[in-house]
Amino acid sequence: MKVLKLDHIGIAVKDLQESLKFYEEILGLKCEGTEVVEEQKVRVAFLPVGDTEVELLESTEEDGPIAKFIEKKGEGIQHLAFRVDNIEAAIEEMKEKGVRMIDEKPRYGAGGAKIAFCHPKSTNGILVELSERNG
Ligand code: ZN
Repeated sequence: MKVLKLDHIGIAVKDLQESLKFYEEILGLKCEGTEVVEEQKVRVAFLPVGDTEVELLESTEEDGPIAKFIEKKGEGIQHLAFRVDNIEAAIEEMKEKGVRMIDEKPRYGAGGAKIAFCHPKSTNGILVELSERNG
């Protein structure tokens, strides 16, 4: 497994359009479009920052994982995503090293990336996403 870079920082927000104002109007970043990931009941917006991105996540359903996160912890950083060269190999290696995986098989996330989440119990409380994406 090779970690290539910090792919993005996932931030849970109540209102995507409202939150974009800070990133676009104040920080001057540019949203590269929004996308709904049905499976995760979430609408996401990506804003590139240098070699990484900010990912804003708004729940599309009251019982979605992002809605539950905000209910428990409030808005804020929800996960860190690391780009890996080979996600299947990365998952196997994590398991061999004793890391509890939420996803034992990769699934598809925003932008067609193959992703897998590690359990926060294995990562000192951080929800870590592994992501493999071309380009
Ligand atoms: Zn993510």
